Amino acid sequence: MSSSTRILDVKNFYVAYGYGEDAVQAVTDVSFTLEKGHVLGVAGESGSGKSTLVYGLTRLLRAPGVITGGDVTLRLQSPDGERDFDMLAASDADIRAVRWSHVSIVMQSALNALNPMRKIGKEFDEVLRTHDPKSTKAQRRERSEELLGLVKLAPDRLQRFPHELSGGQRQRVMIAMALALQPELVIMDEPTTALDVVTQREIVSELHDLREKLGFALIFITHDLSLLVELADDIMVMYAGRIVERAPALDLYRAPRHPYTLGLMDSFPPLQGERQVMTGIPGTPPNLKNLPTGCAFHPRCPYAMDRCRTEEPELMSLDNGERLVACWLHDPSSSAAVPVALRHSPHGDQQEQS
Ligand code: SF4
Repeated sequence: MSSSTRILDVKNFYVAYGYGEDAVQAVTDVSFTLEKGHVLGVAGESGSGKSTLVYGLTRLLRAPGVITGGDVTLRLQSPDGERDFDMLAASDADIRAVRWSHVSIVMQSALNALNPMRKIGKEFDEVLRTHDPKSTKAQRRERSEELLGLVKLAPDRLQRFPHELSGGQRQRVMIAMALALQPELVIMDEPTTALDVVTQREIVSELHDLREKLGFALIFITHDLSLLVELADDIMVMYAGRIVERAPALDLYRAPRHPYTLGLMDSFPPLQGERQVMTGIPGTPPNLKNLPTGCAFHPRCPYAMDRCRTEEPELMSLDNGERLVACWLHDPSSSAAVPVALRHSPHGDQQEQS
């Protein structure tokens, strides 16, 4: 990938909660890149580090969260050209200038993000006026209506208070506000989790169309892999603060290689096909203060071997470099056979263990 197509470059990123001996490592050694206009899905259960990761990247972490290492470079686009912006070295003022206009974030609960005492129109007006103080009220009103139209809401919603809208409408308002200043990168943290399944699907479908139309890159966080496959180009699965698998979305969905990814898929019904019993993942996510030795997933993994209890697997490259997986089952030097459930190729046939 040439660097000019990249919008975001994250290298060896670490986040901890707390300081000194009491510090708990919440994100460990995460590296990835995102191309312009692409969608990266980030999946994992609660406590996997996926939200902490994006709050850290955007410098929205609250104490006692601390970034303890890494590099985060955002490639800013402007009429004068492109330039790299160091998210971790930038001053708070520079970060504020970049937020909304170059990178925006949609939180999980729109009800918490919107001021309950303010009409929706006032919220839009403030975002637009901060960015362009010379704009007139009429211009901002017109732009607000245009933005609502993008998310299929009628202009009269500007006159409503947040509690007068449904959950789906409020999340659409947040999405429209995130797009207000045409950022290159939008981050959405479980934006549809609190909504019913039909509204979730509608919003994901609208996001798909908006991304095609407006060309922004998107990081979409959820624990529902079946939702991600409709939207994402690539999916990154996290467990205990680390990436455990990353692959093109459809390849990962058709042929998961990490036992945790397989377990996540068994936690949600497929979009199509026959009804089936969901088995989920046994046990609970680990306590980050006291992570298991070796592979952090080993107490819950049906395929755990002796080695898994003592040695931590690094990310290994599979599928001609298209996929990364942190699991000893895929170590070329391992004598253990890859279980059938984890050796389907993304294209339908089964792969022999190499
Ligand atoms: Fe399971 Fe071992 Fe792979 Fe971890 S390394 S996911 S415990 S098989």
